[in-house]
Amino acid sequence: MTYRSKLKPEPDRRSEPKLRKCLKCGKEFISEHVGERICPTCKGRKGLY
Ligand SMILES: [Zn+2]
Repeated sequence: MTYRSKLKPEPDRRSEPKLRKCLKCGKEFISEHVGERICPTCKGRKGLY
């Protein structure tokens, strides 16, 4: 694979890990980014394999 990796770390402030509440079970979890609103437990129920 010829993947061009960036040497400089991008200051992605929008992708900060934050403690959020799951929209499905209401349990608090560490979301990896803003769009992550569902905890791994609920999310992993499908397509984890
Ligand atoms: Zn959940």
